[in-house]
Formats: sequence, C-alpha cells, structure tokens
Amino acid sequence: MTAITVAKGDGIGPEIMDATLSILKAAGAQLEIDEIAVGEKVYLAGNSSGISQEAWETIRRNKVFLKSPITTPQGGGYKSLNVSTRKFLGLYANVRPCKSLHPFVTTKHPVMDMVIIRENEEDLYAGIEHQQTDEVVQCLKLISRPGCEKIVRYAFEYAKQQNRKKVTCFTKDNIMKQTDGLFHQVFDEIAKEYPEIENEHWIIDIGAAKLADTPEVFDVIVMGNLYGDILSDVAAQITGSVGLAGSANIGEECAMFEAIHGSAPMIAGQNIANPSGLLQGAIMMLNHIGQTDVAEKVQNAWLKTLEDGTHTFDVYKEGSSKRKVSTDEFAKAVIANLGNKPTLLTPVSYSNSSALNLPKYKRKQAAEKTLAGVDLFVHWAGENPNEIAEKAKKLETESVELTMITNRGIKVWPEGFRETFCTDHWRCRFKPTEGHEITKADIIELLTKALDENIDTIKTENLYNFNGKPAYSLGQGQ
Ligand code: NAD
Repeated sequence: MTAITVAKGDGIGPEIMDATLSILKAAGAQLEIDEIAVGEKVYLAGNSSGISQEAWETIRRNKVFLKSPITTPQGGGYKSLNVSTRKFLGLYANVRPCKSLHPFVTTKHPVMDMVIIRENEEDLYAGIEHQQTDEVVQCLKLISRPGCEKIVRYAFEYAKQQNRKKVTCFTKDNIMKQTDGLFHQVFDEIAKEYPEIENEHWIIDIGAAKLADTPEVFDVIVMGNLYGDILSDVAAQITGSVGLAGSANIGEECAMFEAIHGSAPMIAGQNIANPSGLLQGAIMMLNHIGQTDVAEKVQNAWLKTLEDGTHTFDVYKEGSSKRKVSTDEFAKAVIANLGNKPTLLTPVSYSNSSALNLPKYKRKQAAEKTLAGVDLFVHWAGENPNEIAEKAKKLETESVELTMITNRGIKVWPEGFRETFCTDHWRCRFKPTEGHEITKADIIELLTKALDENIDTIKTENLYNFNGKPAYSLGQGQ
C-alpha cells in the first residue's frame, strides 16, 4: 500500500478524478487515499493560497500527490496553487510525454513521440517583478547552476531509463549569454557523461518552429521554465488534443501528478469530460511509486479503449469513432479492457520505469570573484542621453568613471544613435579608472553623490569577474 494525497479540484476535477480512481482501483493499484480540499472554495473562503496548512501537512507526509485541475479566481491577488506547490516542494522537473495516437486521434503528425522535460522552479517564474520607473517594469530571470544541473541530468537519466536515443536542449543563448548561456553550458557538460545518448542544441526560435512542423525528429527535449511552459502545450496540442496529456512534477522528496488541461468550468457537472489527461498523470504516478505492472495494465487498457473507437465527445469523430461515451462510461470501458492490449497502437512495457534516483547536487569550488564595476539604474524623464551623461559624470571620483549609458540595453552614450527610442530608465555603467580598483565603498560613495545631485537611483547591479572573466553582458552596440 502506498499512501497518496488526492485533491479533486474544481470544475470537471471531481468527475475525472472519480473516473480515474475507479480505473486504478479496478486495476489493483495498492493505494491508501488521503483526500484534501484545494482550489476555488478554499480561495473564496479567504485563503489566498488556495490550500490550508493541514492540507500541506498531508501532502508533505505522503510525498505523492494526485491533483485534479483547479480554478484560480481572476484578480484579487490569488496565488497560483500549481506554481506554489512546485516551488514549496522543490518539484524541479516537469515531465510531459507527447505522443500521437494515430489513426484514433486525428493529428497532422502521426509518428510523433517526444517527452518534454521542463525546468519547473526558476527562470522568469521566480516571480520577482518590480515597477522601477513610470515607464518601465522588470521581471528577474534567475537561472542557477543547481537548477540547470538537476534538470539536465534528469533529462539524460530519463532518456537512459526509457531507452530513448537523443536529448535536445532549447535555449536562446545567442542573446541571453549569461542565463541561457549557463543552461547550454551545463547541458554540454552533462551530455559528455552520457556518450551513448545523442545530444544536440537548438536555438529556441527555430527549434520551436521545427517542433511544430516536424516533431518526429525530436525524442527528449529539455528546456527552461518559460520555454517549456509554452512549448509543452504546443507539443501536446499537435498530438491531436491537450485533453489526452498528463504530466509529472518531480522533486527530490515529493512528486505531483496531474492532467495538463484546466478545470473546464463550461462542461463541469455534465459527465462528459475526458478523464484521459488525469489518467495519464495517474499512470506516471503508479510508475513513480513502483507499481509499474498496474501502470502498464492501465495504459494498455486505455490504448485499447481508444483503439476500439470508444471516445468522449472531445475526441469523437463521426466515421472513425464507434461510440460516444460519458466520463463514467469511458472509465467503465477502460476497466472492461484491463488485461487487454492494443493491436494497432504499440502496447507499452513499463518494467523499467520506476522513480529515478539522481545524485544530490554537489556545490563546486567557489570561483575567484572580483568587483569590476557597477551599473547604476536611474529614473530620469529627459530624452537626450548627453544630458544624463553630463549629470552622471558629476558622480565620478578619482577611482571610478562613467563608461557607458544604455536605455533598455542599447548603448546610447557615448556615440549613440539619434534614432534610438529612449524610455525613462537609464543604466549608467561605472568602471575603475586606469590604475585603480573599485570597492563597495566606491559604490556607496557613488550613491551618496547621486543623492546630493538629485539623481533618482532605482537600483545598482554590481559587475563581477569570475576567475578573471567578465560575467556580465555588454551594452548592445558596445
Ligand atoms: P481548460 O483546459 O480548462 O479548457 C480549455 C478547453 O478544453 C475548454 O474548451 C474545455 O472545455 C476543454 N477541455 C479541458 N479539459 C477537458 C477534458 N478533460 N475533456 C474535454 N474537454 C476538455 O482551460 P481554461 O478554460 O483556460 O481554464 C479554465 C480554468 O482552469 C481556469 O480557472 C484556469 O486557471 C484553470 N487551469 C488550471 C490548471 C491546473 O489546475 N493545472 C491548468 C490550466 C488551467
């Protein structure tokens, strides 16, 4: 018996959860179920996180969580429970298999069979955002070495376990040389440890185009949080339906399994929703807890049911489908097929699909870090870069000098272009003067002088060299 936490969620959540659990039970899954309430009712009862303290305790105790979709009320400062669950529980890997079920589910890509492994905790999803000036807001894109190492290693270990041939990495490191650059660099480092698995890197824009056009060339794809969020939906959709895909959110201790679709309030309570997405999540859960024989039995019965032409309304097609069924009837049809295997679709074998056991991240020896300058970000409503340069130059000391000003990353001083559009958000870069070094005391002095000169400093960013190499971006055009 494995104790799991179950949340029936909102909208179609309860119907598809009941259907899913009835199939698992009939297949002989050994589960002890602790049910918790999450979602809309909890939000509207005044808990802005959508979940109670006791419910968290249940999730943390059981470590395995099967979750129906929930409705996040619009506005009102409600926090997405999905995002907080992933982050609180350290569920760093989002695993989403996307496979066509041709000819039973109509798709333009009949042979696609890929798995997207999305980093789940950092990137722009760290949710660190600020308004800095009247015209400019920012969102910090945080990428960490442990974050990259864990997700990339997970992708290669997953490929190895599942006997997959290739791992592809998508980044935009031609532009984001530090953040995406780190992700790509770690990918190259870790790929070397798996010589038996082919590896490749694509710049995300052309990679995404290729994915939408020729998905059959990809096998496992690993990517950062935002790219993965977007492209895993694209990948699921082009298999024929987002309603058929599940996903696993895996951490070192805990894991959460779900459908990828939402709570579909428009069709809630009608007993017509397709329970397949949640069932796919539940099958990944069974594998995760080592009940691989049950997982295999359920998946083969599900494939057989689709092959039989027994379809819920979202998949049903006059001509190719045989029977349009309700949520309950679909679950009963899968149960009736337990023990059967598909004949046209390939039956699955999960003998080797239990949870992956990855080594703990080991921190590397710290590099030698030296201060190389500072960027002062300034709110100024003027338009002429030469004017702000004149002001900023007043902050110079014997040991630091103004070397560059950018506006939204593009160099506007010295020698900017008259045509460059400028907002009220200016970055003034100060570097040590010839023969001097810059210290934190110099930065404080700069800030004090800025205060005296009435320069509205909104933030500073230290520039560092790591092991002697500059570890910050240049201004565009510098
Ligand atoms: P949705 O996925 O709920 O619905 C999109 C479309 O797909 C609708 O036409 C819906 O009827 C259909 N659909 C979805 N699941 C289906 C199923 N199992 N069977 C048949 N048809 C299905 O997306 P949405 O309408 O953008 O969002 C509705 C609510 O769900 C929102 O409150 C949103 O915040 C929430 N949501 C939750 C999750 C989650 O909990 N993981 C994920 C996405 C959206």
